[in-house]
Amino acid sequence: MRKISIFGATGSIGQNTIDLIRRAPGDYNVVALTGGANIAQLAQDARALRADIAVTAYDDKLPELRAALDGSGIVAAAGQAALVEAASRPADWVMSAIVGAAGLAPGLEALKQGATLSLANKELLVCAGALLLETARSHNARLLPVDSEHSAVFQGLVGEDIAAVERVVITASGGAFRDWPLEQLKTATVAQASSHPNWDMGQRITIDSASMFNKALEVIETREFFRVDPDQIEVVVHPESIVHALVGFRDGALMAHLGAPDMRHAIGYALHWPERRELPVERLDLARLAQLTFRAPDPARYPALRLAYDVMARGGLMGAVFNAAKERALDHFIAGRIGFLDMAEVVARVLDQFDSADRGLDEAMTLDTVRRTDHLARMDADNEILKYVR
Ligand code: NAD
Ligand code: MG
Repeated sequence: MRKISIFGATGSIGQNTIDLIRRAPGDYNVVALTGGANIAQLAQDARALRADIAVTAYDDKLPELRAALDGSGIVAAAGQAALVEAASRPADWVMSAIVGAAGLAPGLEALKQGATLSLANKELLVCAGALLLETARSHNARLLPVDSEHSAVFQGLVGEDIAAVERVVITASGGAFRDWPLEQLKTATVAQASSHPNWDMGQRITIDSASMFNKALEVIETREFFRVDPDQIEVVVHPESIVHALVGFRDGALMAHLGAPDMRHAIGYALHWPERRELPVERLDLARLAQLTFRAPDPARYPALRLAYDVMARGGLMGAVFNAAKERALDHFIAGRIGFLDMAEVVARVLDQFDSADRGLDEAMTLDTVRRTDHLARMDADNEILKYVR
């Protein structure tokens, strides 16, 4: 039986992962499940999957979790240190599906144990790509992509020589506002930004899809995962979300990965890799689809995309600055303090003003320097946001 753990088990990716696990319960021995405030879900899944330990990110939720697990023999724990402790428990396969930079310490810990870390949480590669790859290498651990675009690229590279790759094209649905007049975006509400035309995902990534911050993170994720140069990475708007990514080779061939927009494909591919097993996803009827469309992203509509290329050009800890500023700008948008288009403006200002040397951060990338950078950039974003609050 394979030992597995799921970080962020109560979220959209976590629940899709559990759906796959529950179809073959005899194959897995569940070590740890973690969640946030949804204790009922966490406890229910921990009991159903007979996990060894369940962890909530929030200390004040511990009594509720203990009560919900009473009599089950499952260990209940809470807080950041408990998340890392859970990640230190030996597991063969670990799903990294906590949203945001909060997933970094548990993810690194799982790699240190030599686990195969399936990475839904793209923020980790954006904040600390070099550190993650080096930790995986030095502990004989493996990173597998779960983001649909990156899973598609990964599958397109099987048996290929990375040196023969000319370009990588990742697709973007265009999000909730792709057909809105530009002027109207200023007044877009949180509720409007929280509904995705094709994918059913957590609220934060859904809003990031509308602003294309999600695609900006994914461009950086592509660079970190596949070590291609920034100028080899293209984004194309594809409203149907059927083609997830394409890999272009030096002989001109362009290999596309197609599938229904269902995360259980990419999760299942990582779960069963290097095998391909049957998965409960819709099979495409191409004649019914009839057509697939593509268009260039409009830079005026999606300023976040350009920022990703600036961040890659600067390198070092700028990915951590970018992600942290984005996370705070998103918090403030959700709280109603800034408008939809202000998010990109705030992040651009934080990036413009951030000087690693000035901030005493002109050093190697470690968990500590990434954390300090993350903290400083969040404060910078909060200061920028003060200018908007009247
Ligand atoms: P979600 O909001 O539905 O779930 C997030 C999970 O993380 C929950 O279990 C929550 O309890 C936990 N969590 C939140 N804050 C935490 C904290 N501070 N500490 C510890 N745990 C915390 O999010 P999601 O849509 O499942 O996305 C998870 C990750 O996967 C994100 O990085 C997202 O970008 C990525 N991703 C998601 C999808 C998708 O279809 N949902 C697709 C591709 C990539
Ligand atoms: Mg994606």
